[in-house]
Amino acid sequence: MSIPADRLIDGKALAARVRERVSERVKRLRSLDRPVRLDAVLVGADKAAAIYAENQKKTCAEVGIDYTLHQLDEDSSYAEIAGRILLLNAEESVHALMLHLPLPKHLAEGATEQIQSLIASDKDVEGVNPANIGNVVYGRRSLLPCTALAVIEMIESTGATLPGATCVVVGASNIVGKPLAVLLMRAEATVISTNKFTKDLPEIARRADVLIAAAGKPGLITADMVKPGAVVVDVGINRVKQADGASKTVGDVDFDAVAPIAGRISPVPGGVGPMTVAMLLRNTVDAAER
Ligand code: NAD
Repeated sequence: MSIPADRLIDGKALAARVRERVSERVKRLRSLDRPVRLDAVLVGADKAAAIYAENQKKTCAEVGIDYTLHQLDEDSSYAEIAGRILLLNAEESVHALMLHLPLPKHLAEGATEQIQSLIASDKDVEGVNPANIGNVVYGRRSLLPCTALAVIEMIESTGATLPGATCVVVGASNIVGKPLAVLLMRAEATVISTNKFTKDLPEIARRADVLIAAAGKPGLITADMVKPGAVVVDVGINRVKQADGASKTVGDVDFDAVAPIAGRISPVPGGVGPMTVAMLLRNTVDAAER
């Protein structure tokens, strides 16, 4: 369904503007003989992670960031992965560092968080180190989780006033829903965090001036759950099979039904996804400048 362009929160267009500014900052640093460098560690052969890494390489090249992918074997031990992270922490020319997920299944439960916590907090461009997650709460200047940042930027792009607004966040994961709820609290919004045990989600969602869907459930947000004129941001990325058997990517919001009711709405694809990548680039140049 097509809606008037001024009601769409166009993540692609917003991301292009962020990339332009990043590119100017990277150029300035390069002119001072300080090339900006992002390194990523990918363990094993997860297909989606490999595609993401390939896209990252392209996007970094577009804005002039040097990108190095460290591909480790599927059977790498915890010590080998941790060792590589510590080596890159110590390497001065690396400004930004991230770990691709998922890690191979043979690693013990909790290995992901343990390895993330090893990433030096001033290089942790995904904002996954506990120190940076803590800084979300304290409001200290630090590297913030990219998706939560992307959502905040997208809400701000609509001109919505957050102090006094009721924001409902659907989904409360450590990497998306929780940090987002805290960033909205920092903006002095009234925040309701919901999860899979929340009772009467439709009634709660209808109170939202700003509704953010981040549950990973296609079609969860239906028209009857949206207050007329609300800002709706869809974080969900779900692959679903269509009637003809072909797969397609959709969000958590039933876009066609909700778009006529919402004041502003972000699409999937072309919404939070591209903005998240843009925030990773911005965090990278932030880390380099610091
Ligand atoms: P997760 O599985 O870690 O967490 C899902 C959260 O949603 C949990 O808190 C769960 O309690 C809640 N939830 C599940 N069903 C619910 C329901 N019926 N009502 C209310 N809450 C419910 O997922 P995640 O990593 O936070 O990702 C969520 C979605 O966002 C996924 O589709 C993921 O692919 C997508 N995502 C997108 C980006 C992006 O860049 N656009 C980045 C990260 C994640």
